[in-house]
Amino acid sequence: MISFGPVHCTLDFEAEGVHAGNIYLDHSDDRHAASLVPVPVVVLRRGEGPTVLVTAGIHGDEYEGQIALRRLVHELPLAELTGRIILLPAFNAPAVRNATRCSPLDGANMNRAFPGAADRGPTAAIAGFVMERLVTMADFVMDFHSGGSTGLYADQGFLSLPEDPRLRAKGVEAAAWLGAPVTVTIPVDSAYGDFDGAVLARGVPFLSSEFGGGAMISPVSLGRALAGLRRILHWTGVWRGDCEAPGTRYVAPAGRLIAPRAGLFEPGFDLGQDVLAGQFAGRLHDLDEPLRAPLELTFGVSGIIVNRYRAGLVPAGAILATMAGTVEP
Ligand SMILES: [Zn+2]
Repeated sequence: MISFGPVHCTLDFEAEGVHAGNIYLDHSDDRHAASLVPVPVVVLRRGEGPTVLVTAGIHGDEYEGQIALRRLVHELPLAELTGRIILLPAFNAPAVRNATRCSPLDGANMNRAFPGAADRGPTAAIAGFVMERLVTMADFVMDFHSGGSTGLYADQGFLSLPEDPRLRAKGVEAAAWLGAPVTVTIPVDSAYGDFDGAVLARGVPFLSSEFGGGAMISPVSLGRALAGLRRILHWTGVWRGDCEAPGTRYVAPAGRLIAPRAGLFEPGFDLGQDVLAGQFAGRLHDLDEPLRAPLELTFGVSGIIVNRYRAGLVPAGAILATMAGTVEP
């Protein structure tokens, strides 16, 4: 058995074959009294080789990755494996069961709870178990997100760029193998509390991603996520496969379109579209005064639209779109 604070797992991570079990969080509150909250984990192992940890569901309402990992269990022939794949298809399982971004157990956003802790609540405890017990086994970590209930994302790799040239080069290469149409790059921030920064701080190469959004499941985004995951597994050497790196367009956030006031937003753009500074971006209609002229918005910078606000009714300060410009990582 391996454990970390109130979290333990009895699954044998060294066993050959395909095995599923649970990481259990020992938890007590008004709803659960005394309970073991399960977090599903699957291990595929054949012989000696690299270990790849693949995660989805850090945010409970993001689905393409959750399904891609479940599909993989059934579609990847064990005979083609050399090494070990550890799958966490519902990393933040309490949030997944609740269909919410954050955990209903403590309201915490898991992607701000890393590197985790044994004594700072259930979300940090699950995060800490994975960091201390599973990331320590891994040669590469791949994480899947999508836009969640409030956002829509252009299918993208999401690459936190560390200073370390080896880790940086691995991430850039991984993004080319994931092969999403774009890869958004940002400087790593180890104080941010995200999985990216925590894994990279341990010296383990890491790539995140965003496929789809709106708490829906897009067949196109799911197809890209699954094909990209297979290529990543091939690239790491854990799956024999037969594929090539499609490459990607590396970009970095250049600016955001913000709603200056609340209203009904009529976008003048699509996800993945290249826009120019000064170009018409949309109209913000007043909800209560139909005779008031709509506010015409324009883009402040040029770039590709990498994400957008999902809902039509937007609050003041909503990020209506993020524009990103091409870079050489
Ligand atoms: Zn997410």
